[in-house]
Amino acid sequence: MLQGTRIIERADNAYPYPLLIKRLLDMPSVRALNQEIIYRNTRRFTYAQFLGRARQLASGLSRMGVRPGDTVAFMDWDSYRYLEAYFAVPGIGAVLHTVNVRLSPDQIRFTMNHAEDTVVFVHQDFIPIVEAIREKVPSVKKWILIKEPGEPETAHTMRFDAEYEEVLALGNTDFEFPDMDENSQATMSYTTGTTGDPKGVYFSHRQLVLHTLSVGMALGNIDPVGKFKAGDVYMPMTPMFHVHAWGLPYIATLMGVKQVYPGRYEPAMLLKLRQEHKVTFSHCVPTILQMLLSAPEAKTTDLSGWKMVIGGAAFTTGLCKQAMDLGMDVFTGYGMSETCPILTISILKPEMLELEESEQVDIRIKTGIAVPLVELKIMDTELNPIPMDNVTSGEICVRSPWCTQGYFKGAQQGKALWQGGYLHTGDVAVRDANGYVRITDRLKDVIKTGGEWISSLEIENLISQHPAVREAAVVGVPDAKWGERPLAMVVVAGESRIGSDDIKTFLMKFVEDGVIEKWALPERILITETIPKTSVGKIDKKVIRVNVQSNG
Ligand code: AMP
Repeated sequence: MLQGTRIIERADNAYPYPLLIKRLLDMPSVRALNQEIIYRNTRRFTYAQFLGRARQLASGLSRMGVRPGDTVAFMDWDSYRYLEAYFAVPGIGAVLHTVNVRLSPDQIRFTMNHAEDTVVFVHQDFIPIVEAIREKVPSVKKWILIKEPGEPETAHTMRFDAEYEEVLALGNTDFEFPDMDENSQATMSYTTGTTGDPKGVYFSHRQLVLHTLSVGMALGNIDPVGKFKAGDVYMPMTPMFHVHAWGLPYIATLMGVKQVYPGRYEPAMLLKLRQEHKVTFSHCVPTILQMLLSAPEAKTTDLSGWKMVIGGAAFTTGLCKQAMDLGMDVFTGYGMSETCPILTISILKPEMLELEESEQVDIRIKTGIAVPLVELKIMDTELNPIPMDNVTSGEICVRSPWCTQGYFKGAQQGKALWQGGYLHTGDVAVRDANGYVRITDRLKDVIKTGGEWISSLEIENLISQHPAVREAAVVGVPDAKWGERPLAMVVVAGESRIGSDDIKTFLMKFVEDGVIEKWALPERILITETIPKTSVGKIDKKVIRVNVQSNG
């Protein structure tokens, strides 16, 4: 840090304007419009009602005894309740713990104890989980039930202290969110925990405000066609527990667009909502996109013009083409729990809009370019930047105002994350002369065979281009002679009947064309019904490796 600069003087009565989440609600777009927030087929609110309800929730929580610094946990599907909590809980200086309801009950118990939750909101679908763990989370003082509108109540023996709407009824619609330090913690969530216990990451008001402004700017202004702008209809398809649904609900609210919340994800419901409300902007992991496109209802739903950020895992050529053939405007976003999450988006430059579809696919599936305020470096093991030649690979290391500053109660792990003053993502990538990054693998998934490195993502991407393939995963398995050899798991689409030899023959073409080396051909190709997934729907390579080794 440079010393000796002239720090600005401040009049005694000057207002320092802390960057607080409540400020996102100050926009005329949020306040003036009779715009709607819709939930499945059961609830609709205007923005004015939403604002009143968020204030009610905040004051209801205060009256229930929630104090600044307390942690309030939420176990819910994507809903208006979650959106209200995104503003209300941090709005009173408390911390919103967005519980990953897809973790095992034991991991959920671990995260609740670790986060020291004091109040827990529980959607009725998750009652069996909390019934199993409630005795083992002593910090929790109040359990609040969330009833699903229009559905019968789930039978239970557990006593809840109140229902969601009763908490709102305790509060006032004209409650004023207080001022506080912009560095106050607003949210926390846990990594998906594929290795060891889940790790807690946390974000402040300032971080969330800056993430909102930057990503909104990248999607709306830096993208030449403006992917997300006034007039769009927004529907999330990534869970709101997973790093604030990538921050998009905050952006959508700031923009005052119509929002549609789908509750639990059911392909038929998602497609119905898309059609009924003319949803134009969404985001999801590749698995959800694949699930949507394979749903019988997809055949009768017009998907054209649906803009969708695909992130959280590598986007393949095969899936991208499939979506583009249906007229969808799909492109990549990249980030991780530790980075709030968005770091890059595969925004096409104006001149790239003229490219043929196949050339556009190559850019749309790239990891993308850094959004404003993200300093992204690809470094070798000595932390030297690598050349932007699209060939030399290194680890993606980043700085941005919204990176987690450590792991909650994990000083050592936090230090390792921030080695050399950069957050180490553990992702291996190359970068081209235009600044577009392409992840070739995770450090721990790179396959090392006979002294060569094989990118598992590249092989998966090539397999995805076989017309009969729905999904593929490639992992390295131990080999006495070569150290490791690639193994592929392939799920075949619909009625197609293909075997491992068809995939081998298909891949041989890429060997002959010099796209991949001979040793990158998978040693074994298993045609399977399903591929193991993590709690947020990503391919779980750790589980695949363990399964393969234990089954031989
Ligand atoms: P999580 O913390 O569970 O969100 O996982 C973050 C990890 O997902 C990153 O470190 C990447 O390995 C992977 N990931 C996220 N987005 C992408 C993407 N667009 N392409 C490839 N991998 C991705």
